[in-house]
Amino acid sequence: MRERFWERLSLGELNKREWEALCDGCGQCCLLREVEPNAVTVFGVACELLDIEAARCRDYARRLEKVPSCHRLTPANVPRYDWLPKTCAYRLLHHGKPLPSWHPLLAGGRDKMRKKGITVSHYALPCEEVPRRHLKRHVVERWPLVSRASQKK
Ligand code: SF4
Repeated sequence: MRERFWERLSLGELNKREWEALCDGCGQCCLLREVEPNAVTVFGVACELLDIEAARCRDYARRLEKVPSCHRLTPANVPRYDWLPKTCAYRLLHHGKPLPSWHPLLAGGRDKMRKKGITVSHYALPCEEVPRRHLKRHVVERWPLVSRASQKK
């Protein structure tokens, strides 16, 4: 990996290792969510493949086959994925913002982000335990989606 690549390169310039290292492993994008035209609602309920304790996908290589609603992030789609959490490193880099000090690339590991409660491990529930009709009882966050035009201002 190139030295401090996250400060110097755009998403499209990253190699595969750098791209993967950029993910902080928070697991927030692995929570169930409802995306409406003007808002996103995030539920504290994990995708069936998420290892909640580790906040890691249990089958990252085949996740798209196993969970059709999962997404493979790319430099082309990150700008369109308004539902990515505000702390997501891909989202931050796309908007030209610095990584937070707890990011594993800066902190040297995931301890700091765990202590700060950034990972979903301490609150996410397995989807098997929450019937779909009860999802709305587990809202953890809801935010308005701002149009891309106004984000550039
Ligand atoms: S929200 Fe972003 S940084 Fe967090 S696990 Fe998902 S892709 Fe990685």
